[in-house]
Amino acid sequence: MMNRRQILVVGCAALAVAAVLAGALSREQIPEVEVARAVYAAPPGRVEVQKLSYGQTFGQVLEDAGLGTADRLGVLEAFREEAEPRRLRTDTEVSIRWVDDRLHGIVVTLDRDRTVRVDCSTGDCTASTLTLATTIDTVYAAGVIESSLWSAITELPELAEAPLGDRRNFVLSLDRVFQWQIDFSRQIVPGDTYRFVFEREKRPDGSMRAGHLLSAELVNNGKAYHAIWFDPNNDGRGTWYDMEGQSVRRAFLMKPIELSRISSRFGMRHHPILKQWRNHNGVDYAARTGTPVQSTGAGVVVRRNRGATYGNVIDVRHPNGFLTRYAHLSSFARAIAVGSRVAQGEVIGYVGMTGLATGPHLHYEMHAAGRPVDPLAIELPAEDPVPAEDRARWEVESAARIALLFTLPGPEELRSVRADQ
Ligand SMILES: [Zn+2]
Repeated sequence: MMNRRQILVVGCAALAVAAVLAGALSREQIPEVEVARAVYAAPPGRVEVQKLSYGQTFGQVLEDAGLGTADRLGVLEAFREEAEPRRLRTDTEVSIRWVDDRLHGIVVTLDRDRTVRVDCSTGDCTASTLTLATTIDTVYAAGVIESSLWSAITELPELAEAPLGDRRNFVLSLDRVFQWQIDFSRQIVPGDTYRFVFEREKRPDGSMRAGHLLSAELVNNGKAYHAIWFDPNNDGRGTWYDMEGQSVRRAFLMKPIELSRISSRFGMRHHPILKQWRNHNGVDYAARTGTPVQSTGAGVVVRRNRGATYGNVIDVRHPNGFLTRYAHLSSFARAIAVGSRVAQGEVIGYVGMTGLATGPHLHYEMHAAGRPVDPLAIELPAEDPVPAEDRARWEVESAARIALLFTLPGPEELRSVRADQ
C-alpha cells in the first residue's frame, strides 16, 4: 500500500517570470533562455575582474583598471541610468572587457539577481540591467510532528530536494504565522500534525528568492488552527486569516527576539544587583550580545537615549495607548531616531548589557494606558479581519487555497499511517 505520508508534490506552475526588482513592483518578462544566452556567451577579447574594496568608489576602480578620463565619464554616465554608483557595496564585482586594447564593455553584478551591463563597443556607452529569470512553483507538504516542527520539516524525506535554507524558511514561516496561537518551543505534543502549501519564486540554481505560505493547518493537541493567505489591497503585501476571515495576526509580536529564552518574568522578584525585592515591570530575554531586537508592533519611536538603569533604551508608541520599551541594548539600528516610524518586526537595536545588567539580555516592557502590563498575559489586540468590500473576492480565493490544502492527507490519515509503521 502506498504510504500516504509520502504524498508530496512539488508542483511546477511552470510560470516563467522575471524576478521582481528588489524594492520595485514592476515585472519585466524576460524569457529564461535568452537571459542565459546573454549571460554565458563567451566574450571576445580580454576580461579583467576587479572587486570594489572598502571605501573605494566605482570611478576609482575604473581608473585603477586603466580607463582614460573620457572612457570613465562615458561609463559612469551610462551606468547612472541603471543604478547609483555610490550605492555599490564593498566586494561588488566589476568585469571590464577590452578588445584590441579598446574598452568594449563593463559588467557590474549588483546582487544575486541583477547585473548592469555597460556596452561601449560602438563608441558611446549604453547601459542595461539584466534580471535573472525565476520560476514560481508550489511546494506541498504534510506530516506528523514527533519532537519538534523543526526536525519534522527539515528531515521530511520528500523535502530533501529543497535547499536547507528553504526548509528553514518553511519552518520560520509557520512559526511566524501561528506564533499567536502556539508556542512551538513548548506547546508541541508528539502526534501533532501539519500540512501546508507554500508558493515560492525560485532562482535557476534552485534556491528560493521569495515566497509565502498560501495555506496551512496545524493540529495541536487535537485543536486545528488554519492560516489562509489573502491580499486585501492586491499590492503584494497580503496577510493570513483563519477560515472565517479573522486575522491570525495580533497588533504585537509574541516576542521581540526570534530565538531567545525568557530569563525573568513580569512581577515581584529579588533584584540581582540591587539585592532587594522589586517589581519587575517587564520580561527579560537572554540572548547573545548583538542579537537583533524587533519592534513588536508598528509605531513611532518616542525615546532613544542612554539611561543609568536602562542603558541604551528605545520606547515605541503604538495606537490605542500602547507603548513598548527595549532596554540594555548594545547599540541602536542605524535608521532609528526619535520620530522614526517603525513596522512590526522591524529591527530597531541589538541585545547588550548597558545600564544595570549582570549579563547580555533584553529587558522588554509593555505599557497600556500609561501602566506597565505583562506582555505574556494580556489579550493582544487583533488586526483587522478581511475588509467588507473584499469579502466576495476572499470567499473565492480562500476556497481555492483551502481546497489545495485539503488535497493533502489530513490529521486522521497521517496518524493512522503512523500507527501502521
Ligand atoms: Zn528586566
